[in-house]
Amino acid sequence: MDFDLFSSSSSMEKPKKLRAALLSSPGMGHLIPVIELGKCLVANHGFEVTVFVIPSQASRAEAEIIDSAVTPKLLDIVELPAPDLTAADLGPNASMITRLAAMMREVRPAFRSALAAMEATPDVLIVDLFGTEHLCMGDELRIPKYVYVPSNAWFLALLLHSPALDKEVKGEYVDQTEPLEIPGCKPVRPEDVVDPMLDRSNQQYRGYIRQAGEIPMGDGILLNVWEELQAETLAALRNEEFLGRVVNGPVYTIGPLIRPVRPAGLAKELLEWLDKQPNESVMFVSFGSGGTMSAEQLVELAWGLELSQQRFIWVLRKPIAKSLDGSFFDMGKGCGGDELLSFLPDGFMECTRDVGLIVPSWAPQVDILSHPSVGGFLSHCGWNSTLESIVNGVPMIAWPLYAEQRLNATLLAEEIGVAIRPKELPSKKIVRREEIEKLVRTIMVENEGHMIRARVKELKSSAKKAMTKGGTSYESLHKMKEDCKMRIHRIKKAP
Ligand code: UDP
Repeated sequence: MDFDLFSSSSSMEKPKKLRAALLSSPGMGHLIPVIELGKCLVANHGFEVTVFVIPSQASRAEAEIIDSAVTPKLLDIVELPAPDLTAADLGPNASMITRLAAMMREVRPAFRSALAAMEATPDVLIVDLFGTEHLCMGDELRIPKYVYVPSNAWFLALLLHSPALDKEVKGEYVDQTEPLEIPGCKPVRPEDVVDPMLDRSNQQYRGYIRQAGEIPMGDGILLNVWEELQAETLAALRNEEFLGRVVNGPVYTIGPLIRPVRPAGLAKELLEWLDKQPNESVMFVSFGSGGTMSAEQLVELAWGLELSQQRFIWVLRKPIAKSLDGSFFDMGKGCGGDELLSFLPDGFMECTRDVGLIVPSWAPQVDILSHPSVGGFLSHCGWNSTLESIVNGVPMIAWPLYAEQRLNATLLAEEIGVAIRPKELPSKKIVRREEIEKLVRTIMVENEGHMIRARVKELKSSAKKAMTKGGTSYESLHKMKEDCKMRIHRIKKAP
């Protein structure tokens, strides 16, 4: 292996590039940050990258994201065959996370064959959070291996500390009367725990604890944040309470990695509409790739938007009866525009004709958030959406639904200071129209909103600085590359 650092070849000879194999778990929220990491490794750090993906939705949106990485050709993308889940014996009530974990397990033979079929063995393996079971393939290939957690430091701290909580805490986490302590970090309120911690008897909880235990098998962790965003929590993760015990190797902060704005990303109608609106006057309402709500909540949201008298773009999804994560794997397929409109209350479209725009099922979110007319984001607080909002200087109304979103919402509202939120969790209680009206007006017209907007804009520029050459995230990924070369060298020398 002739890498620039160790090359003994003449200076005329071009050093070989590091070849990275990246594995993404299914779902847009994983696929997007993994592809963006791949692009960044190629464009800024001289890697050759192959991303292995497990298509889950066969949707246009998913195809578009994959396409954005291969035209113009930046990366190789290998689509692994959709795993057969019959052997996994998932019950009809298996959660989204249990299904995801099963897909990742069952895809292992296909992934192993695909790695073996590569023209040359990769020099480094990077798996995302749900791919920790595949870290052993790094050992099989005798290459360094890393875990990419496309989320934030507080989430990571909770995850890594969960095996200890599992031993310490008696009964359900949600029934605790005191917040859950994590060394050096803000404690976690019982109601904010991540979905797998909601029910300790559920299959997904065991999978979650296993996952936490597997992360230290990697040679380091990549996190989609930047130093300034979560300095204290990052310091805690690098403290001896974590380091050497549940963190093996460095925590590299490499974000915010988000999808770039596309020059022609907005369809003509959307662009024309946005261009006509005053600066920072539009509230964007969207709940990620799978988020949706009950029919009753949908009606309250509609009237809340109407009462606020503010402009809005709303990515409308079919309401659901119960499981909030139910539509995660169906995203982008959606249902037809006319059918969707039938879920809105009578008279709503007429009342809001001049101020609102309904987009069925899926919208070009990054392109919308980057438009100067957008001034607020009512969001489910998925980590990609959160970063996209901050990078575009857009303050948020935090409306967490599932996964780690309650934790993110608390982080955004109470620590980072870029969001406000309903008094009670929307996953627990219907948020009524009057409260929604107030939340929207607070962000769009009131003084509190102006202060939050100023804070997001500060973070927007600190994020930009972090990503440019010499910035913390740029240098952190560079450091990861150098560490990686050292490890390769060491592995090569070992008997
Ligand atoms: N997204 C989009 N259009 C939509 C909904 C979502 O482009 O209508 C993108 C969004 O920009 C983000 C990703 O899908 O990059 C969703 O990821 P996130 O982590 O926010 O939430 P998840 O979908 O994983 O819950």
